[in-house]
Amino acid sequence: MSAGRDRPPAVMSIDVEDWFQVENLKSAIARDSWDARELRVERNTDRMLELMAARGVRSTCFVLGWVAEKVPALVRRIADAGHEIASHGHGHELIYEIGPERFRQDIARSVGFLRDLTGQPVRGYRAPSFSIIDWAIPILQEHGIEYDSSAFPTVAHDRYGRLSGMDAGVPIARLPGGMIEVCVSVLTMGSRGLPWGGGGYFRIYPYPLFRWGVRRILARGLPYVFYIHPWEIDPGQPRVGGVKRSHAFRHSVNLARGEARFAALLRDFRWCTMEDLLRTHAPPDAG
Ligand SMILES: [Zn+2]
Repeated sequence: MSAGRDRPPAVMSIDVEDWFQVENLKSAIARDSWDARELRVERNTDRMLELMAARGVRSTCFVLGWVAEKVPALVRRIADAGHEIASHGHGHELIYEIGPERFRQDIARSVGFLRDLTGQPVRGYRAPSFSIIDWAIPILQEHGIEYDSSAFPTVAHDRYGRLSGMDAGVPIARLPGGMIEVCVSVLTMGSRGLPWGGGGYFRIYPYPLFRWGVRRILARGLPYVFYIHPWEIDPGQPRVGGVKRSHAFRHSVNLARGEARFAALLRDFRWCTMEDLLRTHAPPDAG
């Protein structure tokens, strides 16, 4: 098999954060308790690195700044294994909730730390819980970010941010001002875009159905973008009471199957990084 140009690429991306930092559990886990929580991100990420190494897969890791500051050696291991280090911001706060000034501080801290740690430029960004919004884009550019991968153009979720000018049929777009937006994948069925890029959906749909959808996206000649979190392969993580049932479900559904599904996905497709994708599929610069 050759890496033919006839075949659209599939991007593996990992949002490197811990189980207690997710939006679905926010109501039950105070931010100031993070330091006291059991840190599981290191071994879960190391396990993912092992699984990817076994298949020769390189990914893009959107590392949360809080995690990077806590376990910098993990970030170095990810980079040394050949994966791309990108930013998931610092404190995992929804962009539209914190406003431009705090967002600027959050991105500066995260990008600066990752850059100093790896000695490499940080080109990519993914917003916490896909909470991207138009005014954040120029702020990302101020900090050297060249592409954003936070748009998830679907109507099936209550919390995702919005970017002007994106539509479900266009997986990679050049935004006004030059930023490249790489959407997390959706499977378009008629006029609807079904979320098909990972997260809870990856664990809810039966695996053969999920794989069918990925194949269908690729067969249409579109690149595919998948995302997963280290805690999604960790059935041993603490269970948290006191959250809305729908949120608890979204967080914990099929965690026990996560690792096997991730391994199957690594086996069933040929994966690349965001940087690899943009080398061949960047939309032309308007200027
Ligand atoms: Zn996240």
